[in-house]
Amino acid sequence: PVDRSPEIQEARLKLPVLAEEQVIMEAVRENPCVVICGETGSGKTTQVPQFLYEAGYASDGQIVGITEPRRVAAVSMSHRVAKEMNLPTQVVSYQIRYEGNVTSDTKIKFMTDGVLLKEIQKDFLLTRYSVIIIDEAHERSVYTDILIGLLSRIVPLRNKKGMPMRLLIMSATLRVEDFTDNQRLFRKPPPVIKVDSRQFPVTIHFNKRTPLDDYTGEAFHKTCKIHRMLPPGGILVFLTGQAEVHNLCRRLRNAFPFRKSNTTSAEDEEGDTSEAMRKFKKAKQKKKTVSLPRIDLDNYSALPVDEGDEDREAGIGDEEDGGSDLDIGDDPDDSEEKADPSIPLYVLPLYSLLAPEQQAKVFRPPPPGTRLCVVATNVAETSLTIPGIKYVVDCGRVKKRFYDRVTGVSSFKVTWTSQASANQRAGRAGRTEPGHCYRLYSSAVFGDFSLFSEAEITRRPVEDLVLQMKDLNIDKVVNFPFPTPPSTEALVAAEQLLVSLGALEEPPRTGRVKQMQHAMLSCPITPVGRAMASFPVTPRYAKMLALGKQQDCLPYVIAIVAAMTVREIFEDLDRPARSEDESSKLTQRRARLTQMRRLWAGQGAALQLGDLMVMLGAVGACEFAGCTPKFCEDNGLRYKAMMEIRKLRGQLTNAVNAVCPEVGVFVDPKMTPPTGHQVVCLRQIVLAGLGDHLARRVQAEDLLDPKWTNGYKTPLMDDPVFIHPNSALFKTLPEFVVYQEVMETTKMYMRGVSAVEAEWVP
Ligand code: ADP
Ligand code: MG
Repeated sequence: PVDRSPEIQEARLKLPVLAEEQVIMEAVRENPCVVICGETGSGKTTQVPQFLYEAGYASDGQIVGITEPRRVAAVSMSHRVAKEMNLPTQVVSYQIRYEGNVTSDTKIKFMTDGVLLKEIQKDFLLTRYSVIIIDEAHERSVYTDILIGLLSRIVPLRNKKGMPMRLLIMSATLRVEDFTDNQRLFRKPPPVIKVDSRQFPVTIHFNKRTPLDDYTGEAFHKTCKIHRMLPPGGILVFLTGQAEVHNLCRRLRNAFPFRKSNTTSAEDEEGDTSEAMRKFKKAKQKKKTVSLPRIDLDNYSALPVDEGDEDREAGIGDEEDGGSDLDIGDDPDDSEEKADPSIPLYVLPLYSLLAPEQQAKVFRPPPPGTRLCVVATNVAETSLTIPGIKYVVDCGRVKKRFYDRVTGVSSFKVTWTSQASANQRAGRAGRTEPGHCYRLYSSAVFGDFSLFSEAEITRRPVEDLVLQMKDLNIDKVVNFPFPTPPSTEALVAAEQLLVSLGALEEPPRTGRVKQMQHAMLSCPITPVGRAMASFPVTPRYAKMLALGKQQDCLPYVIAIVAAMTVREIFEDLDRPARSEDESSKLTQRRARLTQMRRLWAGQGAALQLGDLMVMLGAVGACEFAGCTPKFCEDNGLRYKAMMEIRKLRGQLTNAVNAVCPEVGVFVDPKMTPPTGHQVVCLRQIVLAGLGDHLARRVQAEDLLDPKWTNGYKTPLMDDPVFIHPNSALFKTLPEFVVYQEVMETTKMYMRGVSAVEAEWVP
């Protein structure tokens, strides 16, 4: 029996999924696999685990497991369900890559899909689970797809062995044919239960014209207009990345400040008021005497602005706003630039890397007398439901990582979203009453959107998945029941890389291409491959860990791999000033941070390890100083990234000890820098992992184009790639280097560059 509070009880009764409890539970009893479709907000994620719990699926030490493609959802949903059920987090728990609160008493476990995949490796039959719920299946994340493929085999196996197990697939869209009409996956199509959603009508308003790039500016104007002219109701704005989100939040807070009684840090105030000041000057010179607005200084702005910034990786700057919004075409409403504290707007950012406490704010009612405005990335599209939203402003775009299939070069690009996504976004406006969706693009543009987003598995390299699958003894990966299979090309490339890393056995050599390809696609795993598969990092880095024993290099390899795996550990030296006031200090700061990086890059032999030495130095120095937020802020390190590195070091250390206990490696917070000898060894280990990422400086005789000066040639690309001016090796320009990845921003830049001796080159 579950003891829910009356308020929770009442809120639950309003959820459409509750009306389907009987139908769902009966279907689950009678079918090994069931698909549930229901609009976002209909109660799937929070309620279905509770149905199962109440029906006894979490008794006798069994666990109800729920996978989420996003960490945000795993954490926040576990908290929500614990609260609804009035149970402690020891019972309703979560596990994500670096952390969790699972105990031996856990009965409902939310986790990311990657976590469950790792568990399948350890226990193929998932014996502790009575049910697995795959949530947000419509997102078609790679791990979701592969889990569904695996579970389509695990569930019948369990049932045959007399250890009953159930699979639930939950989707926010009705497009589930890839799961249901897929004979290879489920011979008998699973039943689909549709949850009727009480979706209120949402009126769609298309823009007449479509802004080509300044959609943030357009979103600003639209939001201002809605706030000024339309009846109460929350506003949800969809943008593509974190920098855009913060930028728009700041502009909206300046435009509609609301006074909060609490005191705030001087630093924040300085930045924000000077921004406001600039706008005042721009808007009307005589306005100077107006008392400057106090804006909502919710402590998000105390976080490093770059935190987890999807944009920075992309090199997509969207900081160029400023005055341009005054001359936005025929928009007659130029008063928007004047701060108007009479109609306060409660502006909150929402994106996946935002701290959970900050995310939780969107679920709480806004302060009395204000209107809620959430500026979000597409996390708000399906994963989280924000109460009280009546207006949606949709920029129509999404930021995605693209990989070049041949070269592996990746870049983040902002592209149009799909019609399905745009409709999901619009749907967010009609949860509590009829709503409106303002699309910042024309209906003609919408007509050109693709109908659905492609499954991620078809868009990215798959070597990590192939290795995991081989470790599960699925040798013929081509025959795996993928909901949507990756291309044969991608599978061959993955196997080739894994063979070259020694993770798979060499295929027998035969003359015929067709036979070669066939053999290539069924190479069994090697013992090194098994060790590599047990490390929670991509195969290239796993190879480095597998080699790290030599010369006592393991602690360094672990630290380097952890640092390479975590996104954006350094503050961007080239970032624009956050305010006019800051720009004067920024030059100074850049100089100091550059100096720090030079220090971390070491001297003598260490220099040759290049950017990886800088990472190692930074991790070492940061841990030595106790990894405090202050140390990070002072030295241009992203605190959250450093904390992730710390956790990952612990995790990798455990994983390495599990594979070879005799090394007895441990995390040493006072790690001394590597010796010259060790640096050489580290460079060779790095080369072994990144062997296919080798580049040679363009030789004088090959200098066909002056633009190629200082460029590097790689085997697969026609055009050269470059060492970034911020790289530790920018001045040295060694003849041979290996790189972590090539990212196309303003130029093709190598990231994580390390020098290679000519005689090591195979
Ligand atoms: P679905 O999975 O179908 O999208 P959910 O189960 O996530 O639906 O959400 C059901 C309802 O619970 C939503 O209306 C949402 O507003 C509410 N809800 C979810 N999480 C929270 C929370 N942390 N605080 C308050 N309400 C929440
Ligand atoms: Mg959900």
